[in-house]
Amino acid sequence: MPLELTPRTLMGPGPSDVHPRILEAVGKQTIGHLDPQFVELMEAIKSLLKYTFKTKNEMTYTVSAPGSAGMETCFVNLVSPGDKVLVCINGVFGKRMLENVTRIGGEAVVLEFPWGSGVDPRKVEEELKKDPAIKIVSFVHGETSTGVLSDAEAIGKIARENDCLTIVDTVTSFVGTPLEVDKWGLDAVYTGSQKCLSCIPGLSPVTFSERALEKFDQRKTPVQSWFLDLSLIKNYWGTGEKRTYHHTAPVNSLYALYESLLLIKEEGLENCWERHFKNHLKLKEGLEKLNLEFLVDEKERTPQLNAIRVPEGVDEAKVRGRLLNEFNLEIGAGLGPLAGKIWRIGLMGYSSRKDNIDFLLDCLKKAL
Ligand SMILES: *Cc1c(COP(=O)(O)O)cnc(C)c1O
Repeated sequence: MPLELTPRTLMGPGPSDVHPRILEAVGKQTIGHLDPQFVELMEAIKSLLKYTFKTKNEMTYTVSAPGSAGMETCFVNLVSPGDKVLVCINGVFGKRMLENVTRIGGEAVVLEFPWGSGVDPRKVEEELKKDPAIKIVSFVHGETSTGVLSDAEAIGKIARENDCLTIVDTVTSFVGTPLEVDKWGLDAVYTGSQKCLSCIPGLSPVTFSERALEKFDQRKTPVQSWFLDLSLIKNYWGTGEKRTYHHTAPVNSLYALYESLLLIKEEGLENCWERHFKNHLKLKEGLEKLNLEFLVDEKERTPQLNAIRVPEGVDEAKVRGRLLNEFNLEIGAGLGPLAGKIWRIGLMGYSSRKDNIDFLLDCLKKAL
């Protein structure tokens, strides 16, 4: 089969449209992953990641695999068998966190919230006061399955006050919504390349606080995953000179990541947050004109992922199919209990543009 694909406009839950400069970067000549030039590039990536995570954490790097591997990296390294972890679930990705904890042999305490609502920090606090044996709190900042943004700052503060570490999923929220790893005191934070970074899929930047590394150093059992083990990765992504072979970095993907981070730096991180928010407002205005409603309360919405209720009597898959087949426009469907009930419209990274919004509203009007 010849690789002749019809280009699409990607306005679903990810991947988002890749910026042309990033596509150009991927195509550059591959060099060796231990080449001094490449080592220099890895250092530059680390420094740009610190800028985008708003952290000084030394252990900030990119897992050579998609966002799900970033999730797994945080759990396998910080959770030892028998550790008690509070897992907040308000959608698909919280459920995956639970899966991670139980597979490791951790003891999960589950705190569930309705799909479409945020994680309530007061409930987290109640739970931690009730059970002082809990040592880690995990939650999703921007839940992509529902378009809900939880208050990571408040949850981070409560966790610290109760002597707990936090594991935070920022795959969708990262660079599209304010996120301050150091100021909010978050401990293990992971994201993905293919959402608001608008990079190619397959990479997962992560960052670990000093407190997280202290807990890691106290482990009594080896990390169950050889590939994701921080003690081995440290020598690969750590200081430039002592770098030793662990695995072959996805060289060209890292070119792409570097370019995507440079684009954020050029725009300015705060400006990037603001662009995502303003475009969300523009989309909201247009959707209201079409009498379409949001699933989530205004104060808990992620601007980059808009969950819209499918109107009564409308076949959601048919509309989505028409958008894809007639207009080459991709949006997302609902998952789990929300299947058939919502569409998910992503305004992530390079996809978050005024012309895209006009295009989408126009197509949606026609398809409805
Ligand atoms: C997309 C996503 C992931 C998984 O990322 P992949 O790159 O698909 O592995 C994890 N968490 C959230 C919140 C996501 O939106």
